[in-house]
Amino acid sequence: MTGRSEGTEGTDVVVSTRGLAKSFGDVHACARIDLTVNRGEIVGVLGPSGSGKSTLLRHFNGLTRPDAGEVRVLGVDVATARGRRLLALRRRVGVVFQQFNLVGRLTVLENVLTGALGRVRGPRYGIVTWPRSLRQEALEHLDRVGLADRAYQRTASLSGGQQQRVAIARALMQRPELVLADEPVASLDPESAASVMDLLVRVCREDGLTVVCTLHQVELALRWTRRVVGLRDGTVVLDAPTSALDTSRLRGLYGTVPESVH
Ligand code: ADP
Ligand code: MG
Repeated sequence: MTGRSEGTEGTDVVVSTRGLAKSFGDVHACARIDLTVNRGEIVGVLGPSGSGKSTLLRHFNGLTRPDAGEVRVLGVDVATARGRRLLALRRRVGVVFQQFNLVGRLTVLENVLTGALGRVRGPRYGIVTWPRSLRQEALEHLDRVGLADRAYQRTASLSGGQQQRVAIARALMQRPELVLADEPVASLDPESAASVMDLLVRVCREDGLTVVCTLHQVELALRWTRRVVGLRDGTVVLDAPTSALDTSRLRGLYGTVPESVH
C-alpha cells in the first residue's frame, strides 16, 4: 500500500530497541529491553498484568520516553523526536486500544474518517468537510471490517466487538506502516475476541503491515501471532516463532496453557 517513507529506505527493521529502560518510582516497567521487529511481522507481546507490555508499546509512538536506551521506529529516533517529527511518525503508526477510544456520539463513518485527519487541510478546530474520496475510502475500510451497513449509525449503539472493528478501520484509514494493538480483545467475550483477532491479523497481512499486539492470554498469542515475545517484570523472558514455542516453558512462565497449541 503505502510506499516506504523517508528514513526507512534500505532497511526492513520497523522497530528496534536497545537497552530500553523505563521506571516508575521503584517499578522497572521496562528493564533493558532489546527487541527488533521486521517489516511484515505479526508479533504478540505476551505477559501477565503489570509485566510492562503497555509501557513497551507506548514507547513505539512516543507516548512514553525511555529513561535510558534507544528506540527507533520506522527510521525515526523516537526517544528524542519532538514536534513535527514526532507527529509525522505517529501518522505512520496506527493504534488500537483495549477500550476502542472512539467517539460514541459520532457516526461509525465519522470515527473512521478521523483516521485521515493527518491527510486533510483545513481548520484545525471546527467542522471538517471530508472530501468525497476520503468518505469513499472510509466506506471501503468499513466494508473490509464487515460494517458497511453500519456507517451512519451512532458508534455508541454498536457492540464491543463491532466498535473494535471500527477502531481497526480507523487505524487502516491512516494508511499506517506499523499497527500497535494494546490488548485489543481484552474487553470482549471469547467469541468476539476470536473474530476481532482474526480480522486484525487478516487485514494487516493483506496490506503487508507490521503488527505488534500485546495480549495477556497465551492461547490468543499462540493462535494469531507468528512470533511471541514474552515479558515478565519488564524483561524479555522469551522470544521465538510461535510454532517453535516450548509449551512446558510457557506453562512455567504464565500458568495454564491449552493442550493443542500449534
Ligand atoms: P502491562 O501492560 O503488562 O499490564 P504496564 O506497562 O501497564 O504493564 O505496567 C508495568 C508496571 O509499570 C506496572 O507495575 C505498572 O503499575 C507500572 N506503571 C505503568 N505506567 C505507570 C505510570 N504512568 N505511573 C506509575 N506506574 C506505572
Ligand atoms: Mg497493559
